[in-house]
Amino acid sequence: MIRDRRILTRALALAFAAILLTSAAAWSAPRAKHVFVVSLDGAGPPYLKQSNMPNVFGFVRDGAHSYHARTTIPSVTLISHASMITGVGPEKHGVKWNSHSPEKGVVSVPTMFSEAKKSKLSTAMFSSKSKFAHFYIPGSLDCMVIPSGDPATAAEMTATHIRRFKANLYLIHFGEPDAVGHGHGWGSPEQKASLARCDEAIGVIIKAIRDARIAGESVIIITADHGGHDKTHGGLSDRDMEIPWIAWGAGVKKGFEITNAVTTYDTAATALWLLDVPIPNEWDGKPVTSAFN
Ligand SMILES: [Zn+2]
Ligand SMILES: [Zn+2]
Repeated sequence: MIRDRRILTRALALAFAAILLTSAAAWSAPRAKHVFVVSLDGAGPPYLKQSNMPNVFGFVRDGAHSYHARTTIPSVTLISHASMITGVGPEKHGVKWNSHSPEKGVVSVPTMFSEAKKSKLSTAMFSSKSKFAHFYIPGSLDCMVIPSGDPATAAEMTATHIRRFKANLYLIHFGEPDAVGHGHGWGSPEQKASLARCDEAIGVIIKAIRDARIAGESVIIITADHGGHDKTHGGLSDRDMEIPWIAWGAGVKKGFEITNAVTTYDTAATALWLLDVPIPNEWDGKPVTSAFN
């Protein structure tokens, strides 16, 4: 009888320990195993909203969004993307140029990729502008591809990588809307057509995420580096400075409008927070926690 009670006590203790272990595992699990940051170059919210983008509008409907997130000063591609991936403003990341200038080397502060590597996560960047080579800190990216041409080609290359490697952290950059904006004007029919092509490309990426069976543990963030006006950008007006910030996926609130201020360097902080990677103290960016349950 006493022996039975001892066995029972031991069994209860084991069961209790198992429950503790299970809850500890649940506590330390990352909010997402895969984060996809998709940057539509020059996609200011007024123009994005007027374009045929069923996939992006689906993310707005089923996810969380702000059409009033803001980019860096100046609102130009390389400086803004540097903030998007380093979690700090231009005065800290030091990328003050906007061209591919190999003599300037690579960004001198950590990126979301180099931080993710410290946690042994896999990383990939697909960018349609060669100047993004300035973001290639050796060892920080398992894959860096600069696909030239249209969004469809870039999306196919990205989709192949997703199906095969399922990296933890992606930056996928489509440059075409900016090039078309400089040629035909921001908000021109040509630029809206380009944004529609980007939306189709996003559809290809979503399909790859579903094919890889990782949709339930993925978060996609759709954003931009700047807006624009006439045939240019780089100024301080809302047209140039405001960017979309749309999140969809695991743990994202549904149909939620983000009302707190979001700056482009919050993207890197959000990506690390989702992946359970420590955010460096010196970062200006904070995770957009309001967008998540
Ligand atoms: Zn740009
Ligand atoms: Zn531009």
